[in-house]
Amino acid sequence: MTVLVAGSGGLVGSAVVRALGAAGFSDVVGARSAQVDLRDADAAREFVTATAPAVVVDAAARVGGIAANNARPVEFLHDNLRIQANLLDAAHAADVSRVLFLGSSCIYPKFAEQPIREDSLLTGPLEATNDAYAIAKIAGIMGVQSYRREYDRRWISAMPTNLYGPGDNFDLESSHVLPALIRKFHEAHVAGDATVTVWGTGTPRREFLHVDDLAAACVHLLEAYDDPAPINVGTGEDVTIAELASLVAATVGFSGEIVYDTSRPDGTPRKVLDVSKIASTGWKPRIGLAEGLASTYRWYLDNVAGEGAGAEQMSGVVK
Ligand code: GDP
Repeated sequence: MTVLVAGSGGLVGSAVVRALGAAGFSDVVGARSAQVDLRDADAAREFVTATAPAVVVDAAARVGGIAANNARPVEFLHDNLRIQANLLDAAHAADVSRVLFLGSSCIYPKFAEQPIREDSLLTGPLEATNDAYAIAKIAGIMGVQSYRREYDRRWISAMPTNLYGPGDNFDLESSHVLPALIRKFHEAHVAGDATVTVWGTGTPRREFLHVDDLAAACVHLLEAYDDPAPINVGTGEDVTIAELASLVAATVGFSGEIVYDTSRPDGTPRKVLDVSKIASTGWKPRIGLAEGLASTYRWYLDNVAGEGAGAEQMSGVVK
């Protein structure tokens, strides 16, 4: 059975490829943005038809942190709408029996009740710094639901919380907070700087899931979940950005001062997922934040430090 992982060059896709291999899937085909431009409908269709997969995992997306989303809403909206529509249409044309579409916890309303249940989708306004990306991902969920309704496809959607791990993007302007802080604290430590600047007030709360946990959840959901409603994937636990900054400082050995730049946006005040639904299917995360941070820092030292910024922006998934 062939499994196609779209976005296999990114943080999520590369982890899904590893997890499928570990679970015994021997025919896993990746699609990186450099290999096939999924924004092009013909290219997407040709690639999927030639691969003839039984299963597609859609981890292909234009992704980025708060600054990139805020600055480039056109690309975050239109690239993602095109990528996912082309991939779903191509999967339908190739008669793919299982598709797992990956979204993001930013699809939920800015002031959703916490922890955020799946049924809070579309019950209130979105956070403005990533509304374009969120609307694209909500359209992807609707794409999956529409194929289920009209063509009886057993396709599903999962909504991961903020992810991190090996293969992340460490570019300071386009990355998410966790890789950005690893890089900032590491560079300050090496240079002997007295301070590190963290964006915003430090008070927003975020939940962090190691990408290998998400990848294991993807393999599990392909086997255990078949429902039109999206399903949350997270830890159900969150920390403030200030707490995260202290944890990263301790991980890299930085003992200077942390300064907050309040000219930068905080984004949504809190987004911690209600994970009771996925827990009821028999899955739970295994990698705690301190452990995951330590191993990600090791990966950063081995693969990124000293070589400038990290991964390309176009091939991973999710906020
Ligand atoms: P978000 O979860 O969509 O808001 O995306 P991010 O991961 O980019 O940002 C999460 C929070 O961390 C926001 O409140 C940011 O202002 C804050 N933050 C603090 N320092 C940084 C940084 O250096 N980079 C990023 N991306 N966010 C930071």
